[in-house]
Amino acid sequence: MALKALDIYKLLPRKNCKECGDPTCLTFAMKLAGGKTDVDLCPYLDDAAKAVLGATTRPPIRLVKLGIGERSFAVGEEFVLYRHEKTFYHPPGILFKISDTQTTEDIQAITTRVRDESFTRVGVDLRFNGIAIENTSGTPDTFARAVETVEKIADLPLVLMARDPAALSAALMHCGTYRPLIHAATPENYKEFCALAKNHSCPLVIKANNIDTLAQLAKDCTANGMQDLILDLLPESLQAFIVRSTTIRQLAITRAAPDLGYPVFLDASVMEMPDAAIALGIVKYASVIISYPLSPATARAALTLRQNIYTDPQKPIQMNPGLYRVGDPKKDAPVLMTVNFSLTFFTLQGYLESTRVPCFMLIVDTEGLSVLTAVAAGKLSEMLVKDSIKKFAVEDEVSHRKLIIPGYASPLSGRIEEATGWKVLVGPRDAAEISDFLNEEWKQ
Ligand code: SF4
Repeated sequence: MALKALDIYKLLPRKNCKECGDPTCLTFAMKLAGGKTDVDLCPYLDDAAKAVLGATTRPPIRLVKLGIGERSFAVGEEFVLYRHEKTFYHPPGILFKISDTQTTEDIQAITTRVRDESFTRVGVDLRFNGIAIENTSGTPDTFARAVETVEKIADLPLVLMARDPAALSAALMHCGTYRPLIHAATPENYKEFCALAKNHSCPLVIKANNIDTLAQLAKDCTANGMQDLILDLLPESLQAFIVRSTTIRQLAITRAAPDLGYPVFLDASVMEMPDAAIALGIVKYASVIISYPLSPATARAALTLRQNIYTDPQKPIQMNPGLYRVGDPKKDAPVLMTVNFSLTFFTLQGYLESTRVPCFMLIVDTEGLSVLTAVAAGKLSEMLVKDSIKKFAVEDEVSHRKLIIPGYASPLSGRIEEATGWKVLVGPRDAAEISDFLNEEWKQ
């Protein structure tokens, strides 16, 4: 059972020496209780306290890092079953799969796509994470050549998928210190795979289609010195994946089965309905998802779903408040005020761009709340609008004193006029109607 911060505090040396990086032992205890620091950072803990604290304060699912450098990513370190209980912290990496029997040109094209492709949604750049290379040929040289081709194009996180340790060894020669994920050890070959992973400081996938076998395999691999493990549940159907991944998540976060406290792997490309498998993997606890290269439309759907599931439900995605330009607005351009909820900002900005009327967007800080919620919660007020006009020097940018406010903020129109001295025009409730509104209502 998880210890509370005060229970943990009683086990600490209470020197307040700051050597753990926290100002006091109590702060360290609170972070330990939340799984946000490591017990090993306190050098003064005796072995007995370490044993108690280590077992109860480590994150229930181990954090495992793939790759190094700018495109590296970490998975695991999750604490809840449902995102509304807290949040999910580490989005799954989605990696495109290639076979070492594909042509060099195909391998180069897929790798270049993963390296370069991104699309922006609500101000965030969304990308795929890396490449999984499968030793379909069964030949070490062919596998090594495919890995070398990928490595020459980009420093992306890799998954090396092979049964033969000799093929993995040959491929690993081209990976330097880039820590590819090795797939996958079984109860029969785990000693060889552990040795290989340890030699190259790589994380290791272990695979079994039975939870008890997987737990025993994890135990055997840790006894062989492996810490960074990822679990492949070998699901034969989508239903089997949901049942096994949910069971493992439950057992891990309740610490009922610490041997299963590792991120989960899903090769969606071998599932019956691969697109559905990707979606299920994102929603139901897969941390590394292997996919065939997706069509542009499916790619956007997958990345959008991942962004939505891994957005903190208690913290809306926010824009920085400020004065934004759409086009090249002059002194007589309209000023439209709205809130800093990203979805509101980008929706309105999109419609404004399509109107081709250069204008200013005055974005006020409602802590990411939408217009309607901010008005109801008292976060959008006449004083906030007045202060924002001053803070972002709007009066220096335009020669008029007219402000367009969202339709849902209409109850504030009189008060905003009084507080700011600006004439207020109440705009539409729906951003889609902003073009008609500007054409009909906006006059200098
Ligand atoms: S290093 Fe240990 S003794 Fe020092 S402040 Fe941190 S928890 Fe307290």
